[in-house]
Amino acid sequence: MKADFQPLSYGMPNCPACEKHGLVLTDKNHVACILCDYKRDLSKDINKPKKNDSDGSWFIFLLIVGFVLFVMISS
Ligand SMILES: [Zn+2]
Repeated sequence: MKADFQPLSYGMPNCPACEKHGLVLTDKNHVACILCDYKRDLSKDINKPKKNDSDGSWFIFLLIVGFVLFVMISS
């Protein structure tokens, strides 16, 4: 069975601009609202969070420190 309908706004959050259920995916990386002129580039949002990378390395660092402490305590 092949879905030949456009999923349109199914599963999408409400539009942050008009707060109605008008968000649609215009292509893989772009979201637009059919009820107002809200647009958003999702690919930019994915590239933006560099802060999370440093948070991730801090988490790994703490994990290693915790592991070293665990080895020191248990030996
Ligand atoms: Zn809208």
